[in-house]
Amino acid sequence: MNFVSTRFAAPAVSLSAAVAAGLAPDGGLYVPAKRPLPQRWAGRGSLVGDAEAVLAPFFAGDALAPYLGELCAEAFNFPAPLRALSTPGDHVLELFHGPTAAFKDFGARFLAASLARLQRDRARSLTIVVATSGDTGAAVAAAFHRQPGIRVVVLYPDGRVSPRQAHQLGCFGDNIHALRVAGSFDDCQAMVKQALSDRELQAQVPLSSANSISLGRWLPQMSYYAHAALAHHAASGELLNLVVPTGNLGNAMAAVLARAMGLPLGRIALATNANDVLPRFFHGQAYEPTQSVATLANAMDVGAPSNFERLRWLYANDEAALRLGFRAEAVDDAAIRELIARRYAAAGEVFCPHTATAVALLERLRGEGVTGHWAVAATAHPAKFESVVEPLIGRPIEVPPALAALLQRPANAEPCPPDYAALREFLQT
Ligand SMILES: *Cc1c(COP(=O)(O)O)cnc(C)c1O
Repeated sequence: MNFVSTRFAAPAVSLSAAVAAGLAPDGGLYVPAKRPLPQRWAGRGSLVGDAEAVLAPFFAGDALAPYLGELCAEAFNFPAPLRALSTPGDHVLELFHGPTAAFKDFGARFLAASLARLQRDRARSLTIVVATSGDTGAAVAAAFHRQPGIRVVVLYPDGRVSPRQAHQLGCFGDNIHALRVAGSFDDCQAMVKQALSDRELQAQVPLSSANSISLGRWLPQMSYYAHAALAHHAASGELLNLVVPTGNLGNAMAAVLARAMGLPLGRIALATNANDVLPRFFHGQAYEPTQSVATLANAMDVGAPSNFERLRWLYANDEAALRLGFRAEAVDDAAIRELIARRYAAAGEVFCPHTATAVALLERLRGEGVTGHWAVAATAHPAKFESVVEPLIGRPIEVPPALAALLQRPANAEPCPPDYAALREFLQT
């Protein structure tokens, strides 16, 4: 299958080319050349098997197609269990059992495995530059660690990520370089964008990015929704409805694509933090991106959700149909805190601040009398956000073994001034 840009001003390209490029040259996001048609699916009984089945149509005819089984086995080598909550009919889909304890591990690992295959025959190594406010950089660093032919340079705002996040960024070494930038996340992102559009530099140093709009991270995120929905449908005969904690809308948009392909998913509700661009749109106002505000669910602090372009594409720009199709609500910091404390006290359930926004929305829907089987996408392990969660529940959270192993490694990041010349020089060495 070929891929086109959401802005329709770039040529159609193969899957491999879209994965290698990240962003389309017209600034749009890559989407399948044809909108998917719903079809019937038979579950294969495993996450890897269902991932391979649901991704196969997109890989048909591509140079990566022969490797699809290997890519799925490498990327989906940890489980995504669907667990029942204390409230009847409610579940969590735990997406945080990977090396950096957030769902971004799945997409980052799939992209890394894909780029490693595409790099195999290239003489020159590829440099991935990525700006992070915390979670993305760690997932990308873990995924690309020791991948031959690939170097990763991660930029993060010094002092503005949590100590555990900083540690995760600096603990890999080898082909992973962490730069702590004396500036904001926006400074980091501007420096990366400048590098990616610097043709002269790229003639010497081939560059790519690994941000969340990259097709190689986005498409594979369909897999865990497909697997959970197929297994749940086989066991109960019910569609699985979802609440997805949403920032850039990549994770939720993968669920929407899976549903459009005919997987047994029902309604999809979007939970945001106080950054309420999407709730305002779905309540009938114009789509108006703004500056983001800082919240407890910091990986969702997004004022301009980039994957909204993909949602519009899937609905052929029909805003009325789009508004009818989704429920979106904002959950502020006070409500996040209240939910985490209350659910722990009532049922011993512990949620990260991001997951908490979705649980709060599910409670709201149930309060309105909404029925059916629902799952909240649990996007990060609460131990990653211990400084928020532990004071609310009044006890330490056990750190999962993969995260604990990272935290035991020594960490080191190089200081970098917030100007492009410094990054350019670093990339040339
Ligand atoms: C990135 C992230 C999100 C938001 O996902 P999007 O795909 O940007 O909508 C939610 N929760 C956690 C823990 C994250 O790291």
